[in-house]
Amino acid sequence: KSTATLIEKEKSKVSFDDVAGLEEAEQEVREIVDFLKNPETFTRLGAKIPKGVILVGPPGTGKTLLAKAVAGEAQVPFFTISGSEFVEMFVGVGASRVRDLFKQAKEKAPCIIFIDEIDAIGRSRGKGAFLSGANDERESTLNQLLTEMDGFGTNSGVIVLAATNRADMLDPALLRPGRFDRHIYLELPNMKEREEIFKVHMRPLVMEDNIDLALLAGQTPGFSGADIANICNEAALIAARRKKERIGRQEFMDAIDRIVAGIEKKSKIISREE
Ligand code: ATP
Repeated sequence: KSTATLIEKEKSKVSFDDVAGLEEAEQEVREIVDFLKNPETFTRLGAKIPKGVILVGPPGTGKTLLAKAVAGEAQVPFFTISGSEFVEMFVGVGASRVRDLFKQAKEKAPCIIFIDEIDAIGRSRGKGAFLSGANDERESTLNQLLTEMDGFGTNSGVIVLAATNRADMLDPALLRPGRFDRHIYLELPNMKEREEIFKVHMRPLVMEDNIDLALLAGQTPGFSGADIANICNEAALIAARRKKERIGRQEFMDAIDRIVAGIEKKSKIISREE
């Protein structure tokens, strides 16, 4: 059985309103919404609708969020699975999971399949320090994925979105025409974009009215959208613990300090591993 999670179209609640500071990427994925909603517009002229799109960007920049927003906007079901979930020690399991996933998706078309961490299966062959057993398994999973991508018709109504932090690591076979031949790049947000992301995540918050967005964006260079979402929630938690009526500037500053400390700890652990 496939271990993908299915989010039915009624439950696809994420929209482009929830995405901030990714203007170019958002424009590109809006096309995918059109492909799913009005395929005839394209197919009547003989156009082939893309089957596979790779979202490339650092952790926490909104790749999963954008993919979900496409499903939400197009009102189609969303199958989500992580590349690492395909790869098990037993040869054949990953491949059969891929087969099941595409079978289910075809039944639900139009729909989206989202494969997070595609590099776990699609890493260039011969790279990486895998045990040979695990490597065989990964290859058979990758081959099955390629077979499925080639097998389903161009205009079947299934679009596969995949995410990775490292496009340069991917097997070129994945990127051939008719497979994942489109790339959409997401970057860490700049100052203005961080303000926009703060705004989205402040919507549900009860705050004092002296919160200075420019100040917060200025204090958070290098932060991802996920870090900013984290700050907003942390500020709310701190304010609640302090029994405040509203979240104030101080709570945001303390939240930033706390997240910075967390990031520093994480990068220390990573550099120790290397
Ligand atoms: P990873 O590579 O770690 O899987 P990702 O790029 O898929 O990360 P998401 O999982 O989409 O990142 O982001 C996590 C959360 O961070 C989102 O659910 C959202 O709350 C927030 N977030 C990230 N980017 C943005 C953005 N551009 N606008 C608004 N919120 C964002």
